[in-house]
Amino acid sequence: MGAIVAIVGRPNVGKSTLFNRLIQRREAIVDSVSGVTRDRHYGKSDWNGKEFSVIDTGGYVVGSDDVFEKEIDKQVELAIDESDAIIFMVDVESGITGMDEEVAKLLYKVEKPVFLAVNKVDNAKREADAVEFYALGLGEYYNLSSINGSGTGELLDALVEVLPEGAEEETELPRFAVVGRPNAGKSSFINALIGEERNIVTDVAGTTRDSIDTKYNRFGFEFNLVDTAGIRKKSKVREDLEFYSVMRSVRAIEHSDVCILLFDATRGFDGQVQNIFWLAERNHKGVVILVNKWDLVDKDTHTVKKYTQLIKEAIAPFTDVPIIFGSALTKQRLLKVLETAVEVYQNRTKKIKTSELNNVLLPIVENNTPPAYKGKYVKIKFITQLPTHHPQFAFFCNLPQYVKDPYKRFLENQLREHFDFTGVPIDVFMRKK
Ligand code: GDP
Ligand code: GDP
Repeated sequence: MGAIVAIVGRPNVGKSTLFNRLIQRREAIVDSVSGVTRDRHYGKSDWNGKEFSVIDTGGYVVGSDDVFEKEIDKQVELAIDESDAIIFMVDVESGITGMDEEVAKLLYKVEKPVFLAVNKVDNAKREADAVEFYALGLGEYYNLSSINGSGTGELLDALVEVLPEGAEEETELPRFAVVGRPNAGKSSFINALIGEERNIVTDVAGTTRDSIDTKYNRFGFEFNLVDTAGIRKKSKVREDLEFYSVMRSVRAIEHSDVCILLFDATRGFDGQVQNIFWLAERNHKGVVILVNKWDLVDKDTHTVKKYTQLIKEAIAPFTDVPIIFGSALTKQRLLKVLETAVEVYQNRTKKIKTSELNNVLLPIVENNTPPAYKGKYVKIKFITQLPTHHPQFAFFCNLPQYVKDPYKRFLENQLREHFDFTGVPIDVFMRKK
C-alpha cells in the first residue's frame, strides 16, 4: 500500500505549482501520448525510489474566498484523516494571514507528520523574511520556490523519510475497490453485491483505518472488498463532494489489487473519471470499467460500440481494459463484473516462465527489430518477467538506451497478444546484457 501526501493551504500560495512539479515526470508521459491536458489534482510521485500519491486539496475549492473559508476546515480535516503526511503551504510574499492561522490551529492536534513549507522563497532576502512563520507554532519550516524548484529536494528528503513503506502486502484473496465519481452508483453496486452485510462492514470499518478490507464470498467468488465508506461517518462531509470522493478513491485504490471503475452512462466518461482511471494505472492496479446505469440509456445496435470507442480513446494507450455495460439498480451484469475482476486479478498475479517468454517472443523480436539508431543495431537477447507484485518485464539487449517508446509499446502489445494481461498495466524495461 502506498502512502498519501496531502498539500493544504489557502488559495494562491502555490500548492498546484508544487503539485505539478511533484507529479510532472510520470504524468507528462500519459499526456503527450493522448495529446490531452488534464486538470489534475492528484497523482503519483516518487522520490529516492519511494512512491506516494499526492493530493492538491486546493484543487477542489471553487468559488470565492468566503466559500473557501467555510470549506477549508472540512477539507483540511479530511486531508488529515486520509493522508499519511501533510504539506502545509504558506506564502512568504504575503506573510502570515488569518487563514494560515486557522489551518495551523487544525494541524496542532494532528499526530501525523506535518511539513510547513514556506513558498515563493525565490531569493536570499525572502529567506530572511521566512522566519516570521515560526509564529505559526509548527516548529521548523522548509523554504521553497515551487516555481524554480529550489528547496523541494530538502522537503522531499524529509517527507519520504517518514512515509510508511510502499511495499504491497500479500493477501491470499483479491482485493477489489469500487471507485468513481459521486453518484456513479458505487454504493448501489456494493449493496447489490453484498446486500445487508454492508451495515456490519461499515461499523467495523469506521473504527480503524486498517480494517477497510472485508472478506466476502459471493456467487462462488471469494474476495476482499475495500470499503472506505465507514471512515467517513465521523466527518460531517457531504457525500457528493468531489473532494470527498477523490480522497476516498485514492485510499481505496492504494489498498486494492483491482479497481472496479464505475461511471454514469448518462454523464459520460469525463475528465474526473479519467483521472481516477489514470491513478489506478499509475498505481499498477488492475482495472475493470463498468458503464453503469445502462438501463437509462436509449440503445440501438451501435450504442455499445460507440461508448466503447469513446472510452478507448480516452484511456489510450492503455486500452486493453474490460468494459462492461450494466446496472447496479437492475443488477444487470453484476456477476459478469465480479467474474471479470477475478480474471484481471489472475492476470495481474500471473508469472510467465522465462523459457515460454523467450520461445514466444524472441522469434517475433528477431523479425521486428528496433529501428537502427545512429547506425547501430539493437539486438534483444533474453526476456524475463521480474519477481514483482505486478507484471514487469526486462528485455536484455546490447544497447538499451537506443530503444524508444514506440518500440516498447510494440513489445507491450506483443506481451498482451500472447499472454493475456487484460485489465493490467504492464511495464517494459530495456536492460543492458
Ligand atoms: P494555489 O492556489 O495554492 O494552488 O497556487 P498556485 O500554484 O496556483 O500559484 C499561485 C500563484 O503563485 C501563481 O501565479 C504562481 O505562478 C505563483 N507561484 C507559485 N509558486 C511560486 C514561487 O515559488 N515563487 C513565486 N514567485 N511565485 C510562485
Ligand atoms: P455513489 O455516490 O457512487 O455511491 O452513487 P449511489 O449508489 O448513491 O447512486 C446514485 C444514484 O444513482 C442513486 O439515486 C441510485 O439509485 C442511482 N443509481 C445507481 N445505479 C443505478 C443504475 O444502474 N441505474 C439507475 N437507473 N440508477 C442507478
